[in-house]
Order: sequence, then C-alpha cells, then structure tokens
Amino acid sequence: MVATMYDLIIVGAGPAGLTAGIYAARYGLETLVLEQSAVPGQISVANVIENYPGFISTSGKELMSRFREHALANGIAIKKADVKKVEDVAGKKIVLTHDEELYALAVIVATGANPKLLGVPGERKLLGKGVSYCATCDAAFFADQEVLVIGGGESAVTDALILSGIASKVYVAHRRDSLRACKVLQQRAFMKDNIEFIWDSVVEEIIGEEAVEKVIMKNVKTGEMTEKNVEGVFIYVGINPNTGIVELEKNDNGFIITNEKMETSVKGIYAAGDCRVSPLWQVVTAVADGAVAAISVQEYVTDLKLMR
Ligand code: NAP
Repeated sequence: MVATMYDLIIVGAGPAGLTAGIYAARYGLETLVLEQSAVPGQISVANVIENYPGFISTSGKELMSRFREHALANGIAIKKADVKKVEDVAGKKIVLTHDEELYALAVIVATGANPKLLGVPGERKLLGKGVSYCATCDAAFFADQEVLVIGGGESAVTDALILSGIASKVYVAHRRDSLRACKVLQQRAFMKDNIEFIWDSVVEEIIGEEAVEKVIMKNVKTGEMTEKNVEGVFIYVGINPNTGIVELEKNDNGFIITNEKMETSVKGIYAAGDCRVSPLWQVVTAVADGAVAAISVQEYVTDLKLMR
C-alpha cells in the first residue's frame, strides 16, 4: 500500500493548529491535524477567558470545543497521536508518531508551551482560584486587591506592570536581589508606587480553602519565614515551549524563530502559536499565527506542485 502524502500535517490541535487547519481546508489542502493524546494544552485548563473578541466570557474548554467543531465542519481530519519527531528528508517532511510514520509536503508546528510549575503545596489546588500564570488573562479578576508575583524575568515584570494598573498592590518576590528582566522593564517597575519587590525570597506554600488567602515565604539569605496575605498569586518561573520534536533555529529558551510568514529555518516547516518567539502568547495571536502559516503553506505547496 502506498503511504498517503498529505499536503500539510499540523502538529498540535490548540487554537493555532485548528485555525491553520480551517484555513488550509478552505484552500483545498489535504490536511491532517495531530492532537497529543494525553496532556491538555494551556487553553483547555483556562477556567475563564474574557479577552477573546466575540466572547464576553467563556472557558478554554468551551472555546476549544467550538474551534474543534469549526475545524471538523470544514472537513479537517483530527487524529490522536503523540509525535516523537518531525524531520525534513530531502524536502519530504516525515512525522514520526508513537506508532507510525506520516508524510507531508509541509508541516506546521503548533505544539504550544507550558508555564513551569513552582512546585509548592497549594499551587495546583488553587489554580484558577487565585493562582494564575497569566496577568493578561486574569488580572481583571483582581481589581483593587493585593497580589503577589513570583519571578524576576521578563514575564514576571511585564505582568507585574499589567497588574499594577488593576490591583491595589503588587508584591514581586524574587529569589535573588537583582532582576533578570531587561533594564527598560525594570525601570518601569521601579517607578510604580504600588509595586514592591521582596528580594531574596521564595514562596514555600500557597494557602487557602476556596481561594488564595496567603503565602508562606522564606528569605533565602536569613532563613526567616514570613506570611503575606494576598488574594492572587501569579507565577512566572519560566516557560517550556514544546519544541523538542523538531530541529529548527530556536532562541536560548527553546522557542522557534520564525519570520512574519511563520517560516522557520527549514523550508516547508512552519511554526505558529505559543511555541514560537512572539511578543504576546494569547489565543488571539495563536489564531492569527495559524491563519498566516496556512496561507504560507498554500503558496509553498502550490509552487511545489507546479514544479513537478
Ligand atoms: P525566565 O527568563 O526563565 O525567568 C524565570 C524567572 O523565574 C527568573 O528570574 C528565575 O530566577 C525565576 N525562577 C526560576 N525558577 C524559580 C524557582 N523555582 N523559584 C523562584 N524563582 C524561580 O522566564 P520568563 O520571564 O517567563 O521568560 C521566558 C522567555 O520569554 C524569555 O525569553 C523572555 O525574554 C521571553 N518574554 C518576552 C516578553 C516580551 O515582552 N517580549 C515577555 C515575557 C517573556 P533567576 O533570575 O534567579 O534565574
């Protein structure tokens, strides 16, 4: 039996992947979307989404089920598969899953990213009940309340700045006494009256029954333990992009580098959504990436077929 040569295989069935699928189907590309079988994407675990236009308030689960329904209505095939590797062999794209080898003219990598967990008691229990990894998504729920940001990188400082416009007080706990974030962001944060840095400190436990009530912190230099009453805890201790399956040009943190057409360093392989270097990782940017990637694939595949 001759193996199917798809026009396009999309790895990932989140907002970027499914949008790419919808656009690709409408361009008449023979497309297969591969959906990871076990681990849910970030969107699926978002309890409330209030910044995706057209939906005043929805959940990640609801939004994803609508995206999925939309993709299926356009005739897209979605298959559960754990992808182990994406390779380019003499221009042919090979997608290796846990149990088969698939072939395509082009591949869109839309595998997303996951925030690193802090790994302290209370973090999982209070996720969506005061614990968050995204101020752009959740800051509005903390109007005039006191919140704690954990981390000293760009995400922590960027989101502390967002929170400072909404919350009454923003504490930033960092495990050292200087920030990793760029100088411009640091200066902006230092100028805010309602942002207070708590240096050399780590959070040992997040406490609350139905919602976050307080945290227990430890000063790593003195060993002193303190409690702080806050209603929100925003955790930014790094992001893991799911990009280990493919060898492409990436930044130091493993995010795939693309141009504005979502082209990567390998011809015919595209990246879209949270797995690529971007100034913003949101549903709205992921769907835009997916649409752009699909258009780029359509051009690429049309040219390939003309050359045959
Ligand atoms: P990051 O740069 O890896 O920073 C993580 C921060 O968390 C560091 O300050 C680190 O402390 C701290 N940390 C790590 N593990 C910890 C632990 N167990 N307990 C307490 N603190 C811990 O991650 P990020 O800020 O999410 O940034 C990731 C990437 O996205 C970067 O490339 C960044 O430039 C990019 N980004 C860009 C923008 C933008 O505006 N363009 C915005 C956000 C992010 P140490 O400093 O001591 O290591």
